Amino acid sequence: MVELTKQYPVNVRFIEEMPFNGEGSHYPVLVWNHKTILDYLKSYFPAIYKIPDPPHSTSYNYQIPGHQGTIGIIAAYTRTFCGTCNRIRITPQGGLKTCLYDSGIFNVRDLMRAGANDAELETAFVEAIGNRAKDGWEAEKNRQFGLPVSESMSTIGG
Ligand code: SF4
Repeated sequence: MVELTKQYPVNVRFIEEMPFNGEGSHYPVLVWNHKTILDYLKSYFPAIYKIPDPPHSTSYNYQIPGHQGTIGIIAAYTRTFCGTCNRIRITPQGGLKTCLYDSGIFNVRDLMRAGANDAELETAFVEAIGNRAKDGWEAEKNRQFGLPVSESMSTIGG
């Protein structure tokens, strides 16, 4: 896959394993963290080098000399890039998530069905985003009723 970046100006990205398998199981030790992924790539491409990450990037970015494309490594489990994250998601059930790891801040669908107008929705969004957890670890700790991550990524929209 990395060879693709030789001929094509594409960004090939690798992501750490994550606990969103729908079973709520958490990895006590993560085998393929962003460092091991990079070490593995280095074993094949020793000249790989770091390039600047765009603002709000969700990956650490690299390039191989002479290649047109770039390579990204997403530290999605070790959560070392949360400080610049500006992502929000709305699940198919209407739950607003300000972090992949939270259990939903409020339900947009329910608020709309209860007759909330645009200004009320805006207030709810601004408040939720203004109070977002500082990182994925805090978001996970704040999950409702202390429930562990148990949803599947397919229900979140990674
Ligand atoms: S804040 Fe949450 S969604 Fe954003 S990068 Fe961190 S773990 Fe991912």
